Amino acid sequence: MNEAAKPPMTPPVHRCHAIGCTVAVEPRIFMCRRHWRMVPRDVRKAIWANYRPGQEIDKRPTREYLRVAALAKQAVYEKEQGSELPR
Ligand SMILES: [Zn+2]
Repeated sequence: MNEAAKPPMTPPVHRCHAIGCTVAVEPRIFMCRRHWRMVPRDVRKAIWANYRPGQEIDKRPTREYLRVAALAKQAVYEKEQGSELPR
Protein backbone atom coordinates (compact mmCIF):
# COMPACT_ATOMS: atom_id res chain seq x y z
CA MET A 1 0.00 0.00 0.00
CA ASN A 2 1.53 3.27 -1.07
CA GLU A 3 -1.22 5.85 -0.62
CA ALA A 4 1.19 8.75 -0.19
CA ALA A 5 2.39 8.56 -3.79
CA LYS A 6 -1.09 9.02 -5.23
CA PRO A 7 -1.82 12.44 -6.81
CA PRO A 8 -4.69 14.16 -4.97
CA MET A 9 -7.03 14.68 -7.94
CA THR A 10 -6.94 11.14 -9.30
CA PRO A 11 -10.24 9.27 -8.86
CA PRO A 12 -9.55 6.51 -6.38
CA VAL A 13 -8.97 3.14 -7.96
CA HIS A 14 -8.99 0.41 -5.38
CA ARG A 15 -6.66 -2.42 -6.20
CA CYS A 16 -6.11 -5.90 -4.87
CA HIS A 17 -3.94 -5.74 -1.76
CA ALA A 18 -1.75 -8.66 -2.77
CA ILE A 19 1.87 -7.63 -3.23
CA GLY A 20 2.48 -6.77 -6.88
CA CYS A 21 -1.13 -7.29 -8.00
CA THR A 22 -2.77 -4.50 -10.03
CA VAL A 23 -6.26 -5.94 -10.45
CA ALA A 24 -8.90 -3.28 -9.67
CA VAL A 25 -11.51 -4.46 -7.19
CA GLU A 26 -14.45 -2.89 -5.35
CA PRO A 27 -13.25 -0.83 -2.38
CA ARG A 28 -14.91 -3.17 0.12
CA ILE A 29 -13.18 -6.17 -1.43
CA PHE A 30 -9.77 -6.85 0.07
CA MET A 31 -8.21 -8.86 -2.73
CA CYS A 32 -9.09 -10.06 -6.20
CA ARG A 33 -10.74 -13.45 -6.41
CA ARG A 34 -7.54 -15.25 -7.33
CA HIS A 35 -5.56 -13.92 -4.37
CA TRP A 36 -8.46 -14.08 -1.91
CA ARG A 37 -8.61 -17.83 -2.50
CA MET A 38 -4.98 -18.11 -1.36
CA VAL A 39 -5.77 -16.55 2.00
CA PRO A 40 -6.27 -19.12 4.78
CA ARG A 41 -9.92 -19.46 5.81
CA ASP A 42 -9.40 -18.26 9.37
CA VAL A 43 -7.59 -15.14 8.14
CA ARG A 44 -10.38 -14.37 5.66
CA LYS A 45 -12.89 -14.69 8.50
CA ALA A 46 -10.80 -12.37 10.67
CA ILE A 47 -10.68 -9.76 7.91
CA TRP A 48 -14.46 -9.71 7.55
CA ALA A 49 -14.88 -9.74 11.33
CA ASN A 50 -12.73 -6.63 11.62
CA TYR A 51 -13.94 -4.85 8.49
CA ARG A 52 -15.90 -1.69 9.14
CA PRO A 53 -18.01 -0.28 6.26
CA GLY A 54 -16.54 3.08 5.26
CA GLN A 55 -13.03 2.40 6.49
CA GLU A 56 -11.73 2.52 2.91
CA ILE A 57 -13.18 6.03 2.66
CA ASP A 58 -11.98 7.54 5.91
CA LYS A 59 -8.78 5.41 5.85
CA ARG A 60 -9.17 4.50 9.49
CA PRO A 61 -9.25 0.71 9.70
CA THR A 62 -8.78 -0.77 13.13
CA ARG A 63 -5.42 -1.92 14.37
CA GLU A 64 -6.68 -5.52 14.36
CA TYR A 65 -7.81 -5.19 10.75
CA LEU A 66 -4.36 -4.00 9.73
CA ARG A 67 -2.83 -6.92 11.61
CA VAL A 68 -4.92 -9.58 9.85
CA ALA A 69 -4.55 -7.75 6.53
CA ALA A 70 -0.78 -8.07 6.89
CA LEU A 71 -1.18 -11.78 7.67
CA ALA A 72 -3.27 -12.24 4.52
CA LYS A 73 -0.72 -10.44 2.38
CA GLN A 74 2.06 -12.56 3.78
CA ALA A 75 0.13 -15.78 3.19
CA VAL A 76 -0.49 -14.86 -0.46
CA TYR A 77 3.12 -13.84 -0.92
CA GLU A 78 4.34 -17.16 0.45
CA LYS A 79 1.98 -19.11 -1.83
CA GLU A 80 3.10 -17.15 -4.88
CA GLN A 81 6.74 -17.77 -4.01
CA GLY A 82 5.96 -21.48 -3.77
CA SER A 83 7.47 -21.80 -0.33
CA GLU A 84 6.80 -20.64 3.17
CA LEU A 85 9.06 -18.29 4.99
CA PRO A 86 11.25 -20.15 7.48
CA ARG A 87 9.71 -20.15 10.95
ZN1 LIG B 1 -4.80 -9.89 -6.71
